Amino acid sequence: MAPSKTLFCVPSVAKTPDEMAGDMAAAASIGADVVELRLDCLSSFQPRSDLERLLTNRPLPAIVTYRPKWEGGEYDGDDETRLEVLLLAVQLGSDYVDVEFKVAEKFLNLISGKKPENVKLIISSHNYEMTPSVEELGNLAASIQSLGADIVKIVTTANDISDVSRMFQLIVHSQEKQVPIIGLVMKERGIISRVLCPKFGGYLTFGALNKGKESAPGQITGSELLNVYRIREIGPDTKVFGIIGKPVGHSKSPNLHNEAFRSVGFNAVYVPYLVDDLSSFLNTYSSPDFAGFSCTIPHKEAAVTCCDEVDPIAKAIGAVNTIIRRPSDGKLIGYNTDYVGAISAIEDGIAGYRVKDAAVSPLAGRLFVVIGAGGAGKALAYGAKAKGAKVIIANRTYERAKELANLIGGHALTLAELENYHPEEGMILANTTSIGMHPNVNDTPLSKQALKHYAVVFDAVYTPKVTRLLREAGESGANVVSGLEMFIRQAMGQFELFTGLTAPESLMRDIVMRST
Ligand code: NAP
Repeated sequence: MAPSKTLFCVPSVAKTPDEMAGDMAAAASIGADVVELRLDCLSSFQPRSDLERLLTNRPLPAIVTYRPKWEGGEYDGDDETRLEVLLLAVQLGSDYVDVEFKVAEKFLNLISGKKPENVKLIISSHNYEMTPSVEELGNLAASIQSLGADIVKIVTTANDISDVSRMFQLIVHSQEKQVPIIGLVMKERGIISRVLCPKFGGYLTFGALNKGKESAPGQITGSELLNVYRIREIGPDTKVFGIIGKPVGHSKSPNLHNEAFRSVGFNAVYVPYLVDDLSSFLNTYSSPDFAGFSCTIPHKEAAVTCCDEVDPIAKAIGAVNTIIRRPSDGKLIGYNTDYVGAISAIEDGIAGYRVKDAAVSPLAGRLFVVIGAGGAGKALAYGAKAKGAKVIIANRTYERAKELANLIGGHALTLAELENYHPEEGMILANTTSIGMHPNVNDTPLSKQALKHYAVVFDAVYTPKVTRLLREAGESGANVVSGLEMFIRQAMGQFELFTGLTAPESLMRDIVMRST
């Protein structure tokens, strides 16, 4: 049997019945399949008249939920009154009624023989602390099902992103047994459970109407589910890519890669992975479904040791920002697209130079100063050296500058020394630290006074688009190269490794410019 499509449900957490009616209309207008009426969120509520009015005029199938405080909801009255209201929802023909596992037996006694066929009973269990083992989840699902649930609902909490894989396993097992299940994992580490449930066969996923209208921690908006992740197009064969980082919530990469995949008709989705331990994450998500990863702070260096094979340049740099699972044997292969992205952007930033028509890089023989010795610093230093530049590394932790300079054959400076360093005019500067990044937009790694010795200044920081460093460098007469250019180019390199297709450059540029 082909798995049925996962439904998209908008929860309404409105405070008044009128607002709830408005939410139902808004949910219908954004393309929801179902709306959940969270009666416990209403501050004043006349069950018979309000519920009847809401259900009579519903523009979409509705789930009636009246969640008590003891299960994470807002209702703090007695259960008898609450279950009477749920009974009323059944009598009024609500499409779905949700009742908590702990009182399900009591409710089933109350409705015995009175549940019309077309009212589906969701029996739900919420764990706000953790996600149990696969075995415990399976036992819980079996107990819920044995009570007579039409739909089993199990919601847990992700303390680590690997917790979500147990929920995926539960959903797959339930699918095999043809048991409809809603299986979701709360909090930011659980976001992939909300996006990927159509791939594994979850019955339904929730998306908030707007930010601030979430009914559970970690819930994203319906608009993100539909327009960024395109859950309607996700199915069992959809490949999963994503960005591994900590933090990762601010990343624009999901917008960029999902839109780029769509534009070339590539059946894939790109998600954010908030990862604490890279090695455990990669061991957990080791199936061919998880086809490739972008790596960002703080995992780029650990990624070198977590891959089965590393491209020689990425190995020399000591940082991997792209991991591909090789389809033939499942091995993880690491690459670095940062260095090509940054170096080609700087080459293009040198007046009168065009990378495509030149045999020798304009960086050859130039003095190239890199501030920073982390992942991006290593990529820039290695790339500049490979193009024949004389490389200087300046870093807050001098020892790291020294280490990198020794590795690539350059010289190291302290940040203080850099202020008065100008053995020649027309030098090239690349900031690869986070200095000047939003919200610390008034910070800068080098004084305006010192900048006058540089002909080209690049800043890896791209929030804001024009950092203080770039503004002052421009005022001092240098050509400036934005970190956005590096961002676009490294993403194009990743796209090509992920898909084997040419990156849609103008589309990717438009998306990055629109979203920053
Ligand atoms: P990383 O590996 O953590 O390295 C951070 C570097 O910045 C280290 O050298 C660190 O010095 C230095 N640093 C951090 N805070 C500092 C401060 N307050 N004062 C002085 N130095 C400081 O990070 P990364 O991956 O290289 O990323 C660095 C920056 O580049 C980030 O802002 C990132 O967003 C940006 N980036 C941009 C792109 C792009 O596409 N445009 C790509 C990659 C990275 P210590 O050694 O002393 O700790």
